[in-house]
Parts: sequence; structure tokens; C-alpha cells
Amino acid sequence: NADAAMYLAKTSGRNNAQFFTPELSIQASERLSIENELRHAIEREELCLYYQPRIATRSQKLVGIEALVRWQHPEKGLLSPIRFIPVAEESGLIIPLGNWILREACRQHIEWRGRGIGSIPVSVNLSALQLRDPGLLAMIDSTLRDTGMEASMLELELTESLLMEDVSKTIELLAAIRERGLKLSIDDFGTGYSSLNYLRRFPIDALKIDQSFIRGMLDDAQHLAITKAIIGIGQTLGLRVVAEGVEQDEELRVLTAAGCDEIQGYYFSRPLPAAEMAAWIANYGTKD
Ligand code: C2E
Ligand code: MG
Ligand code: MG
Ligand code: MG
Repeated sequence: NADAAMYLAKTSGRNNAQFFTPELSIQASERLSIENELRHAIEREELCLYYQPRIATRSQKLVGIEALVRWQHPEKGLLSPIRFIPVAEESGLIIPLGNWILREACRQHIEWRGRGIGSIPVSVNLSALQLRDPGLLAMIDSTLRDTGMEASMLELELTESLLMEDVSKTIELLAAIRERGLKLSIDDFGTGYSSLNYLRRFPIDALKIDQSFIRGMLDDAQHLAITKAIIGIGQTLGLRVVAEGVEQDEELRVLTAAGCDEIQGYYFSRPLPAAEMAAWIANYGTKD
């Protein structure tokens, strides 16, 4: 099967091309076709953003929404970002794709505000390659200017691994982003390897506990301990702590008791297309 072929290909080293099987070349060609089609996906308007709410544990207020990209592929159906973001990163297409995503999220925020649905802070995921792109700050500036988005309503989610690469340069960049008024959070926190000392120096606003810890939390004392430790680190450093992947009542209860600030997960809502999210917001209320 394909997994076994992949295993062989990986373990046999680069000079053993004879281990590549037809299954593996299908995977490679699927990858190539995704890359080629992705080049045209933006102009064909096949990409769209889904939105998932983030709720404050104490007040139960809606405090933000995360934009999550999807690809409505003409033959393959609705594709998860797991399927095409890695391809976009390897091919460099993540730069134009990421620009489109940021612009679309800002446009949607402004549209909702204009329709009286609310002025809801929106967060957008940024990939490592985008953070290394020398054009990033200019791209952020022109997006804010063109869409009329208020910087303080925009949060960028970054992953740990990317921050630890070139720390002093990264701190400078994050500071420049934050000077513009944007918020910054570290996504999937706990899965990479952050130096706690660097974490202290990063100009960030929030930590998002990776959902793998939340998943195991109720059955596994170690997952619960890690979750609580992350909440403690966040509190010590004055950061907001968000739990991702919350599905059950009991998880919400434990996280609230542990002092976690915000919750995101199927418990409140799955990620929804913009129109459905607008209806969800109207129904939930902004609880002011
Ligand atoms: P992420 O940023 O950590 O997003 C959270 C993921 O967890 C989303 O998956 C969301 O649908 C899922 N999720 C949320 N609540 C629950 C829950 O209660 N249970 C379970 N089982 N899952 C939950 P999604 O949308 O498939 O996105 C996967 C990842 O793809 C994201 O992880 C992010 O790293 C990346 N991604 C998504 N959109 C973008 C984007 O616009 N740009 C970039 N660069 N990456 C993106
Ligand atoms: Mg995220
Ligand atoms: Mg995450
Ligand atoms: Mg993730």
C-alpha cells in the first residue's frame, strides 16, 4: 500500500529509486496536479474562507473568529487546508494565496460591520514562508489600506517552530507588526519547541493550546497537566490563553476552572461558510 511504499522510499535513502511504486508516483502526480490547479484556483474563485468563533470562558461573549481556508475543487470537492497548504508552501504559492486570504478576511469583516452584524475581530493563520517574505509588512499595510480594516481588529496566528528560527530578526518583525496595532498569537502551542526565555521576549498577545492536549485532557493526567501548565505560563507572561478543539461540556468546565481565557471548538461551532457564520453570530448575539 501507499504507506508502506512511502516508508520504503523514506528509509531506503535517495539512491534507491527502485523502491518507488506506482502508488507513490500517483501521490507525487496528485501533488503536482494540485500545485498546477492551485495556481489558477484564486482567479477561478475556487478558494473560500470558513469561520469559527472564539468565546471568552467567563463572559461567554463572542471575542473573535478565525478564518480557515477551504478549496472548492471542481472534481475533488471541498478540500481541507491540510491537503493543499503544504503544497502551497513548497511551491511558493502560499505568498499569493496568503495575500488573498488576508484580504478576503478583512473584506468580510468590513462587510459584516457594514451590515450591522458586528465588528468582530478576525484572526488569520500565517505560514512560515509568509513570515520570511520581505514583502510581508508592505502586504499587510496595503491590505489594511485597501480594505479599510482597522489594524486592532486583525490577529495573526503563527506557529512556534517558525518563531525560533532567527529569534532577534523575528522579534523585530513581530514588533513591527504589533506597532501597526495588529494582535499576534502562537498557534498549536505545545507541539513545537519554544524556549520559554524567548517566549518572554516575543511581543505577542496570546497562546493557543494545541487541540491534541485538549483531546486527551479528560482521560490522561499528563495532557491535563500540560494544559494547566500552558495556562500558567500564559498567565505569568500576561498572555491570553485560548484552548482549541473544545468539543465537550466537561472540557469547557475544566478549562474554565483552570483559568483558560478563551475557547474555540465544535462545542460552540464548527467552522462555517461566511453566510452561515453571519447567521450563527446573529443567533448567538454579541452579548454586550
Ligand atoms: P489551526 O489554525 O490550528 O486551526 C484549527 C483547526 O482545528 C481547524 O482545522 C479547525 O477546523 C479544527 N477544529 C476546530 N475546532 C475543533 C474541534 O472541536 N474538534 C476538532 N477535531 N477539530 C477542530 P482546518 O480548518 O482543517 O485547518 C487545519 C490547519 O490548516 C489550521 O490549523 C492551520 O494550521 C492551517 N490553515 C487553515 N487555514 C489556513 C490559512 O488560511 N492559511 C494558512 N497558512 N494555514 C491555514
Ligand atoms: Mg489557527
Ligand atoms: Mg491550532
Ligand atoms: Mg494547526
